Amino acid sequence: MAETAAKEMICILCPLGCKMQVSEKPGQPEDLKVRGIQCKEGKKYAYEEYKNPTRILTSTVAIHNAPLPRLPVKTSKPLPKGLVYKAMEEINKVELNGPVKVGTVIIKDLLGTGIDVVATRSLG
Ligand code: SF4
Repeated sequence: MAETAAKEMICILCPLGCKMQVSEKPGQPEDLKVRGIQCKEGKKYAYEEYKNPTRILTSTVAIHNAPLPRLPVKTSKPLPKGLVYKAMEEINKVELNGPVKVGTVIIKDLLGTGIDVVATRSLG
């Protein structure tokens, strides 16, 4: 069985920014071949980024009775990348009334992930 085409990725864990090539081993889809890394942490990052890439999602929500019309928010933990579009739909539905304190949970258990959306500044 032929090896899958390698996916190019950059490790973002430290300033070296190693350029990685990640591919699945023939007949062993759970196991990955990782080239270009310089440490164990990079290998772990390569697996996570290849199998289940996640991102901290940052955005803003509408707020009334505040000096600015939008309140900056972010997810409390990294969210699977595949859920970002649906997450943005939920975030875009929110309208708040000020004042809001930094760290306030704006959406609890976003899309059933156990991840919250929280305010990243106080406003109002
Ligand atoms: S593989 Fe290791 S050395 Fe290279 S960027 Fe990632 S953490 Fe840094």
